[in-house]
Amino acid sequence: MLVIHKIQEISAYSKGTKQAGLTVAFVPTMGYLHAGHIQLIREARKRANRIIVSIFVNPLQFNDSEDLKNYPRNPERDLGLLREEDVDAVFMPEVRQIYTDEKPGTIISNPGLANKLCGISRPGHFEGVLFIVHNLFQWVQPDFAFFGLKDYQQQLMIRKMVNDLAMPVEIFSIPTIREEDGLAMSSRNARLNNSERSRSTLIFQSMMLVQNAIHENKNLTNSDAFLILHNSLHAGLSAEDRIDYFGIYDPQTLELAAADKPALGNLIAIALYIGKVRLIDNLLLV
Ligand code: AMP
Repeated sequence: MLVIHKIQEISAYSKGTKQAGLTVAFVPTMGYLHAGHIQLIREARKRANRIIVSIFVNPLQFNDSEDLKNYPRNPERDLGLLREEDVDAVFMPEVRQIYTDEKPGTIISNPGLANKLCGISRPGHFEGVLFIVHNLFQWVQPDFAFFGLKDYQQQLMIRKMVNDLAMPVEIFSIPTIREEDGLAMSSRNARLNNSERSRSTLIFQSMMLVQNAIHENKNLTNSDAFLILHNSLHAGLSAEDRIDYFGIYDPQTLELAAADKPALGNLIAIALYIGKVRLIDNLLLV
């Protein structure tokens, strides 16, 4: 497995691979890898001849400097896991190679989607995401790129960017990998203490209450679904926790879904702070 730090070198590796007639799949991450990341890599392996994974904690997408400072990191362990998965190349650039100025002057934005859900409480977050993903795509020029549905808004905005800018890459969105009790795997889960960890299951349980209610009544409305979520979350959270947002949304526009229409086919999205740790999750209602 190649470990590459320089932009020119990852570009040369990818270009050489493609010139040899092989396909390249790309999995961008911020490291501290878990089973969710590994799933993306395994899906990538099914599609392409060569797999490139990037590990880069992108400062531009952190609107909170404490969150950036506390973001868990363990590159040595990550490299061990990637070797076990037979990844071909890992790209680990230094921050100063990517950001020479304090903030880049050029941004890629999609205000219509960025001003929804996570973008409301994290101003600038999605501009940071699109900036780095756009640049990584330019350098790596992958045939395929893999993202998790766990970050639903992120994969939607990346798909839109790729489509709008006619970027020559095919995007794959992979279902969320969960712990046994339903908590979506996330690098941030490592920061939960025992009591926070047990409260965190409330997110999945609340979403499943809605999903089960739809199984019993496929005409369940968005307002009924919202009430189920509301009651479940408010009953289960403790005084140290805080809700950022939750609701039932149109899965394409991320607009709040009309109250009196069926919830079936819509997206539950939830973001909350369990203690100091911000967790997000979502479920497409089927
Ligand atoms: P991150 O390192 O958190 O930036 O995540 C890197 C990629 O892994 C993103 O495309 C995430 O959506 C995806 N990912 C993170 N957690 C999960 C999960 N539990 N299941 C599936 N994909 C995930």
